[in-house]
Amino acid sequence: MAAPAAVLGWLHDADLAAPKYNEAVAVAAEKCADDTKGQTCYICTEALHWKTKEGLVRMCSCRGTAGFVHVSCLAEQAKILVAEAEENNLDWKVRDARWKRWYSCSLCEQRYQGVVQCALGWACWKTYVGRPEGNVARSLAMTSLGNGLSAAEHNEDALTVREAELAMKRRLGASEASILVVQGNLGNLYDKLGRLEQALQMRQDAYSGHLKLYGEEHEDTLRTANNYAASLYNLQSFEEAKLLLRRTVPVARRVFGDDHRLTLSLGWMYAMALYLDEGATLDDTIESVNTLEELERTARRVLGGAHPLTTAMEDTLRNARAALREEVRQEARPRGAAIIYAAAALAVAAVLVLRKKLT
Ligand SMILES: [Zn+2]
Ligand SMILES: [Zn+2]
Repeated sequence: MAAPAAVLGWLHDADLAAPKYNEAVAVAAEKCADDTKGQTCYICTEALHWKTKEGLVRMCSCRGTAGFVHVSCLAEQAKILVAEAEENNLDWKVRDARWKRWYSCSLCEQRYQGVVQCALGWACWKTYVGRPEGNVARSLAMTSLGNGLSAAEHNEDALTVREAELAMKRRLGASEASILVVQGNLGNLYDKLGRLEQALQMRQDAYSGHLKLYGEEHEDTLRTANNYAASLYNLQSFEEAKLLLRRTVPVARRVFGDDHRLTLSLGWMYAMALYLDEGATLDDTIESVNTLEELERTARRVLGGAHPLTTAMEDTLRNARAALREEVRQEARPRGAAIIYAAAALAVAAVLVLRKKLT
């Protein structure tokens, strides 16, 4: 027997999906109001939707007069296309292509962004929430809703969905690969919400899972290593971060080359852990500064000076240089003191000699 909705919370309450959807559509249309002014829907050709009276949206890569649409029209189209594929038992490739209509634009083929993706996520969940738990469309809809809520920065709600998704996948014995995707998403959400210990745990699990399933050279494995390292950095576990990155940076360089974003990001975190670690020697800090100088030059050339990774590297480089100056000063202090002592000793000796001469 299914648990009552109140026990499972808002997510599984089918009656709540419709008002949540309406609210999300209103937010999306409002946000797109300036961009869509004077335009019409490419599906129904109206400015206002005939039934819902909702406004238009467009948050994909379409430009000019292309791509203006109602969320309701997109949802209706996706629903019909998927239903047709299900009824005719079309193969997974066709179903997969049709399922894309729940999150990406059919004109430019790019994912919808932010609040539009969120509204479509609610549309999708509203459509399939009534199906039994093991149903494929319902499971995919839960992922779509989680993605949409994340895209709109509704992180607490997204967390509720992702946690339910992980529990469901484990209960149903879903594939390791699909569980790893949810774990990766959950790790990022915990991190965004400042739940750093949970983020670290989840990202560690995701990384070791990827390592086992895909091997160390797979891009997803390196991406999860990057997130895991970021969590170690957040919790100031620099020693562990160094161990992880010493293993992964050479792999990234070998497989993707020095110009790849992942190589740059992993290298940046390694250089950071190197000089921030409590046991860092002067040589470590020098290596860190040299590495950062090289990485920053590459990032500037490949990603541009305004890219967040480039500016983050600049900040780190500035701090690492300051740390280096401080360490050099500290190292010089005993030597400086010795010179002062030696000078003082010489002065005393000179005075003694002088006294001797005078007497
Ligand atoms: Zn329309
Ligand atoms: Zn588009």
